[in-house]
Amino acid sequence: MRIGIIGAGHAGVEAARVASEKGASVVVFSGEQVLPYYRPRLVALAFGQVDFSAIQIKPLSWYEQAKIELRLNTPVLAIDPLKKQVSTASGTEPFDGLIMASGGVPVMPDFSRDGGEFVMPLWNITHALEIRKRIRKGSRLVIVGGGILGIEAALHAIEAGMEVCIIELMNRLMPIQFGSRASCALLRRLEEKGIRVLLGSGISGAIRKADKVTLELANGESCDAELCLVSIGARPDKALAASAKLPCERGMIVDEFLKTPVPGCYAAGDVIQFEGITRCSMKESTAQGKLAALNLISSIEGTTGQRYVPETIPLSFRSKDFEIYSIGETASPGVEEHLLDGSTETLIRALVIKEGVPVGVQMVGTREGFDSYAAEVKKARKN
Ligand SMILES: Cc1cc2nc3c(=O)[nH]c(=O)nc-3n(C[C@H](O)[C@H](O)[C@H](O)COP(=O)(O)OP(=O)(O)OC[C@H]3O[C@@H](n4cnc5c(N)ncnc54)[C@H](O)[C@@H]3O)c2cc1C
Repeated sequence: MRIGIIGAGHAGVEAARVASEKGASVVVFSGEQVLPYYRPRLVALAFGQVDFSAIQIKPLSWYEQAKIELRLNTPVLAIDPLKKQVSTASGTEPFDGLIMASGGVPVMPDFSRDGGEFVMPLWNITHALEIRKRIRKGSRLVIVGGGILGIEAALHAIEAGMEVCIIELMNRLMPIQFGSRASCALLRRLEEKGIRVLLGSGISGAIRKADKVTLELANGESCDAELCLVSIGARPDKALAASAKLPCERGMIVDEFLKTPVPGCYAAGDVIQFEGITRCSMKESTAQGKLAALNLISSIEGTTGQRYVPETIPLSFRSKDFEIYSIGETASPGVEEHLLDGSTETLIRALVIKEGVPVGVQMVGTREGFDSYAAEVKKARKN
């Protein structure tokens, strides 16, 4: 049995591991030139805190021993799902089954074009190495987007000695994950680290100069930077699937077995849309990669597959003395927030209660009790 996997990220590598363990002959096509890596660790690589060898998912010898044929620098140009064919610059070859694991691509706003080489995302190894070349003590970094990736980049950049400013469109940080008090505590903690945060600020334009970019804010102010990182989210990379006429909305549509409507063609990771939702999660991509491989093999062997049940994964982030955790809902009409013992202006332990049941918990600056409250929230969600 020969299986072709398109994309060598967390979903693709896990699918390859499982398929090869089940005895399949596996080819993984990667559009990138380097061994598959832990994408979340790109931040540490970009700001000079680790080298590439520290972020590889597996060493080259692992693929060789597992008899996984990893084809680096081999972007798939087209697929024929019905014939299970994959076309690359070297030609077209047939498989018994395909797994699409092409991941996501960063969302870039219009002003990024005018900012030229000074404005970029941090999404792949090329971006990380480019950023790394530009790290200078005292140089100015603007991060557009105050979500978790923007915050993480800001903390690493401060550690690398840069002057850092986060520009966030919303009036407070991470409003989906944190209530107003927790958002405020988060803001204070970032400011204590020397990170400037501009809230409620959109960018209306960028002017590229010889050695910097000037970002024009919608309120008429402007901000100069030697580097601007855009961190406003990602969307599924569904181009290949769409051109093969596989059904796509925001992402590639799969059923509860991670199967596309074409038999023998499965998908996993950030590229998929499942039950109307697209996700961006290393843990879920890995779980989906495993299940897509098991279910593809089951379908070829004529046995029944397993259903995918998405997990409620908490936001859990710690970098030295900076830590934030969140799961479930924030306060809203009919949903109250209670501060737990030990809360202060910069340390928050908040429980969100709906009809007497915990439906959310948020912590800033501590993790005390988070896991047990999170378990209650997960239980309440299942009932
Ligand atoms: C800086 C950063 C920090 C993050 N931090 C976290 C975190 O803390 N926790 C968390 O859960 N998630 C985090 N994420 C998100 C997480 O990395 C993704 O959810 C995860 O990588 C998705 O895995 P995937 O296998 O679906 O796709 P990806 O890891 O994106 O891999 C897809 C691969 O497919 C390749 N590809 C695409 N098209 C083709 C083609 N036509 N031919 C061949 N190859 C192709 C791409 O080049 C890519 O290498 C972070 C992401 C970034 C960028």
